[in-house]
Amino acid sequence: KSRVFSGIQPSGVITLGNYLGALNQFVALQDSHESFYCVVNLHALTLPQNQDPAMLRARTLDLAALYLACGLDPKRATLFIQGDVPAHAELGWIMQCVVHMGELSRMTQYKEKSDGKDAVLAGLFTYPALMAADILLYDTALVPVGDDQKQHIELTRDLALRFNNRFGDTFVVPDILLMKEGARIMSLDDPTKKMSKSNPVPGSRIEMLDPPDEIRKKISRAVTDSGREIRYDPSEKAAVSNLLAIFSLITNTPIAQLVDQYEGQGYGPFKKDLAEAIVEHLEPIQERFSHIRSSDEITEILTEGAARADAVATKTLARVKATLGLSHR
Ligand code: ATP
Ligand code: MG
Repeated sequence: KSRVFSGIQPSGVITLGNYLGALNQFVALQDSHESFYCVVNLHALTLPQNQDPAMLRARTLDLAALYLACGLDPKRATLFIQGDVPAHAELGWIMQCVVHMGELSRMTQYKEKSDGKDAVLAGLFTYPALMAADILLYDTALVPVGDDQKQHIELTRDLALRFNNRFGDTFVVPDILLMKEGARIMSLDDPTKKMSKSNPVPGSRIEMLDPPDEIRKKISRAVTDSGREIRYDPSEKAAVSNLLAIFSLITNTPIAQLVDQYEGQGYGPFKKDLAEAIVEHLEPIQERFSHIRSSDEITEILTEGAARADAVATKTLARVKATLGLSHR
């Protein structure tokens, strides 16, 4: 079986975007691949707002519990916390010595997250080096992510190839895996921006743990486009197209069928049904979440996951260090 690796930052409660673009793929791949899924808490440190120890710890456990509530099976997939496996930070440093400043400067995530801030942490800039390390440590063949991570995966590939060319075959060069629809779910308040769990505007996103009334409120307030028709046209009707994409993925109904169904009805009934569909879809996930989060099972799963991940990562790291002449042996 070939390997899959991916991660999500504990920088807030995961959104429908994370779920439809990333997490859904994780669950789908756990049978066909040997999969490693990570709560990338070291990445969360790159923004000062996440550096609240009690909050970071709680969000880390929430995210781990949500992975499980959404269908990850710890028997089939390895679920672990990045900070529990030291090899990530160590290979992260090595990758910082492979990547060029110019490459990091071109990353749009860095530009967006540093824009207008006066105290930008160096870690936010070097983030893609750590992300490359995360992936390369597991000899990963496939990385399921959302569209916004495409640039970082391409950089990971470039770094792996550069290293292999210079020092001999060491890393597996990973491929990206994107959802056909769902790879880029947009914000509810601004369809030109992707939905993000760390967006300061709560109304911009649906969170996986939002209570039903919150979901209804957010959907009813979601911006729509001019005109009344419900039509899938991401360039002319970006907001409605985004809602259609969410509706389609959540209910497993083709977009064309939804368009037919709501023809001539205006936004009101459409939004109302969409809200109910989301509420209904999230209800069992939220129930499983509460159960898992309050059980002791989660600590066992994460301890076991860290041990499995560590065994693989330590081996890869030793290989890299030997290749680089970093070991006295
Ligand atoms: P943050 O705002 O803290 O960066 P985020 O919502 O972007 O949070 P990440 O932890 O950075 O979430 O990303 C986790 C995974 O979710 C990645 O694979 C990313 O590509 C995917 N993802 C994030 N936002 C979306 C979105 N709007 N649509 C589809 N996939 C997304
Ligand atoms: Mg992100």
